[in-house]
Amino acid sequence: MSLNERMVQDIVQEVMAKMQLQSEVSGNHGVFSDMNEAIEASKKTQKIVGQMSMDQREQIISNIRKKTKEHAEMLARMGVEETGMGNVGHKILKHQLVAEKTPGTEDITTTAWSGDRGLTLVEMGPFGVIGAITPCTNPSETVLCNTIGMLAGGNTVVFNPHPAAIKTSIYAVNLINEASLEVGGPDNIAVTVEHPTMETSNIMMKHKDIHLIAATGGPGVVTAVLSSGKRGIGAGAGNPPALVDETADIRKAAEDIVNGCTFDNNLPCIAEKEIVAVNSIADELLHYMVQEQGCYMISKEEQDALTAVVLQNGRLNRKCVGRDAKTLLGMIGIVVPNNIRCIVFEGEKEHPLIAEELMMPILGLVRAKDFDDAVEKAVWLEHGNRHSAHIHSKNVDNITKYAKAMDTAILVKNGPSYAALGFGGEGYCTFTIASRTGEGLTSASTFTKRRRCVMTDSLCIR
Ligand code: NAD
Repeated sequence: MSLNERMVQDIVQEVMAKMQLQSEVSGNHGVFSDMNEAIEASKKTQKIVGQMSMDQREQIISNIRKKTKEHAEMLARMGVEETGMGNVGHKILKHQLVAEKTPGTEDITTTAWSGDRGLTLVEMGPFGVIGAITPCTNPSETVLCNTIGMLAGGNTVVFNPHPAAIKTSIYAVNLINEASLEVGGPDNIAVTVEHPTMETSNIMMKHKDIHLIAATGGPGVVTAVLSSGKRGIGAGAGNPPALVDETADIRKAAEDIVNGCTFDNNLPCIAEKEIVAVNSIADELLHYMVQEQGCYMISKEEQDALTAVVLQNGRLNRKCVGRDAKTLLGMIGIVVPNNIRCIVFEGEKEHPLIAEELMMPILGLVRAKDFDDAVEKAVWLEHGNRHSAHIHSKNVDNITKYAKAMDTAILVKNGPSYAALGFGGEGYCTFTIASRTGEGLTSASTFTKRRRCVMTDSLCIR
C-alpha cells in the first residue's frame, strides 16, 4: 500500500469514528435546556424512586454498571477528545473501576436497638433531589459514580457538569437513563442542562427543592457550595506529596510513584504531585526513576522554560493539564522517545512546578535532611487541603508520624496512589473524595440522612 492510500484510509477511519461518536451521543434522556425544568423532572422521578424497593434500585444500578463497562471505551475516547486531557487506556480502566467497585444498595444499612422499652432503628433515608457539580478531569467517571451512590440512597441527581466536558457528561447521563428504562425504571434518574454555566449552577444551588449539593472540583466551587446555605459535600483540590525514607524499597518506590503519577496523565486529584525524599536515598531514587521508569530529567534552563509554558502569569495553562510528558516536553522544544512518561527534576519546595497542583506528569523532588524535615516539607506542600498523601517506608513509627502530621482523607503506604481507589488495593471506588467537609471517600451512605424510627414497648421479641 502506498503512503497516500494509507493516509486516505486513516482519514476515512477518523471521519467514521467521529460520525459514530456523533450518532451515539444523539440520545438525550435527562437533558434539558432549562435548569428549573431539569430540577422539576428530577423531583418527579425522585417520588417514584422513593417508592421503589431496594431490589428495584439495585436492578437499575446493575444495568448502569453493565452499560458503563460496555461503553467504557467510548466514554474514555470522548473524554480525551473533548477535553484534550488524559489517556484513553487509563480512562477505560477508570470506568471499569466505577462499574465494578462503586458501592450500591449494600452500603445502605440500618442500626437497631431492641430491649425492654421496644425497638429503635436508625435508617439511611434519601435527601431527595441532589445537586452535583462535576470536574472536567474525570467527567463521566464522576457522573456515573455519583449517580450509582445517590440512586442507591434513594435520591435522584441534577448535574451541572464542567462546560469543557459537557458532551461526555451528557453521554453518561443519557446512558444512565437508558439503563433505568431498559429494566422498567423511570427516566430522569440523572438530569443535566445542555449548556451548564455559573448561572445554571447558581439556580441549582439556590433552588428550594435541592437539599444537598455535592461539589467535586477545585477550591472555587467548594467555597461556592459551602456558602450556598445548603448542606454541602465538598470534594476539593489536593497536592499529594509522596515521601520516601531510607527504609523504603527504593526501586519499588520509584516504580509505584511513577505509575501513580502518570496514571491518566496525572489528572486524578489523589495522584502523586511531588516527591519529598530523605537525602541519603534521594540519588538512588532518581537513578531508578530515570534508568528504569521512563523519567526524563530536565536542566535548570529547561525547568524555567517549562514553568513559563505551564504557568502563565502565575495561572495554570489549561493546554498543559492532563497532557503526556512527551507533549509537554515538545512544548519547550525537547524531542524524546515514546517510552518517556514523566518529567523529573530536583528543586526547593517553593519551586512553582512543585508547589502548584499541576495535574500533569511533572515530578519535582525535594530533598530533606532527615525524616522530620521531610514530614515538615510534605505538610507545607499539601497546603492544608488534607486531601491525599503517600509514603514509602518500612518503619511503622515513621508511617504513623507522617499519617498524623498530614491528617489527610487518603494515605497510601508502599503503593501507587490509585490503590486508594481500589485499583490494586482493597476497598471501594469513588471519584468524589470529600476532603474539605470530612466525609472522605464518598459512597451511597454519604448521600443519605439519618432517620430514627422508634416503637415503644413492643416488637422486642427476645
Ligand atoms: P474546576 O474547579 O475548574 O471545576 C469543577 C466544577 O466546578 C466545574 O463543573 C466548574 O464549572 C465548576 N465551578 C468552578 N468554579 C465554580 C464556582 N465559583 N461556582 C460554581 N461552580 C464552579 O476543576 P476542574 O479543573 O474541573 O477539576 C480539577 C480540580 O478538581 C483539581 O483541583 C482537583 O484536585 C479537583 N478534584 C477533586 C476531586 C475530589 O474528589 N476531591 C476529584 C476530582 C477533581
